[in-house]
Amino acid sequence: MTLFDSPSFEGHEGVHSFFDEKSGLKSIIAVHSTARGPAAGGCRMWPYASAEAALEDALRLSRAMSYKNAMADLELGGGKAVIIGDSRTQKTPALFEAFGRAVDTLGGRYWTAEDVGVSPADLMSARKTTRYVAGLEGHPAASGDPSPVTAEGVFRGVRLAVRRALKRDLDGVTVAIQGVGHVGAYLAEKLHAAGAKLILTDVNEHALAEVAARTNAKVVAPGAIFDAQADVFAPCALGGAINASTLPRLTAKVIAGGANNQLADPAIGRELFERGMLYAPDYVINGGGIINVAAEIRGLERGEAFDPAWVGAKLDRLMLTLEEVLDRALAEGRPTHEVANEMAKARIAQAEAERLAA
Ligand code: NAD
Repeated sequence: MTLFDSPSFEGHEGVHSFFDEKSGLKSIIAVHSTARGPAAGGCRMWPYASAEAALEDALRLSRAMSYKNAMADLELGGGKAVIIGDSRTQKTPALFEAFGRAVDTLGGRYWTAEDVGVSPADLMSARKTTRYVAGLEGHPAASGDPSPVTAEGVFRGVRLAVRRALKRDLDGVTVAIQGVGHVGAYLAEKLHAAGAKLILTDVNEHALAEVAARTNAKVVAPGAIFDAQADVFAPCALGGAINASTLPRLTAKVIAGGANNQLADPAIGRELFERGMLYAPDYVINGGGIINVAAEIRGLERGEAFDPAWVGAKLDRLMLTLEEVLDRALAEGRPTHEVANEMAKARIAQAEAERLAA
């Protein structure tokens, strides 16, 4: 299959590959859309089995960033960078300086940030060779840990989905949370404070015990979370939690959590809809994190400090968008992920049309 035949290539403005012999950098930067503004999305370092696998990941993730940024009403398009390599053994400052040079060749069409395998220290190296870097520490526009904002959005999203699907408030509702890391732990605390009963799991037993003690939660083994008797299932670990083997085991009527790529494939989204479950599309409910990062880009572009009020207003707006997705899906009798994708594409197309008309 050539690049142009890949279904993931569809809609991309450009795909750029970079090789730096001295540092060993092999990187792909996919720019899906700049219709709404410069493409923004993190850089992932991963030991991909092949260049094709790296390309596929970059394409899939960059389109997802376009949709996420559009639904968060940010003046940002979607892009993503991948570096082929093992982040535990192959990281050097020179590698990230070379990556920064790669980002800089795009002249601001793409802003990079953290993703799996990339830390703020790596980004500091990239910053030596390009200014198009967010997620740095120690400057007035710095946005810091995005997890509290992400968790606040997920909490409000869970409450909204429960009101729609179960016609009640969170008090007394049982929520099963898979993964109590950065986002999952904050979410557990907020749900506990709102009177929800919690069932938690994590592969990290220490973190699990700590969060469970703070939130008076029941604890189950990682594999047992799909069998928990709960009203809400909140995936907050890795992607693909909802798949052909886990879906039939879930009793929850609401799926709403912070993880990216919760559906193993789009067909699962239709299947859960047909089972009468309400799914809060992941890239809408978890958009608080990118809003936080966008505030940093905005501050850097304008020479201003980080503005928490701007973040709060954008998060409020995101929740209205989530409400619109759920309400339209319920009114039209359609799966929520299909409605969200349609809305995201329409927002991008409208921005493109406005740009051409200007
Ligand atoms: P994290 O690494 O802090 O937490 C993930 C937790 O999941 C860890 O505690 C880990 O031990 C646990 N885990 C991993 N595999 C598991 C399994 N099979 N069963 C149970 N637990 C498992 O990450 P995070 O920042 O909290 O992010 C969680 C998810 O939310 C990820 O999918 C991430 O991409 C997504 N997300 C995060 C943010 C953010 O602001 N941090 C924003 C948007 C989306």
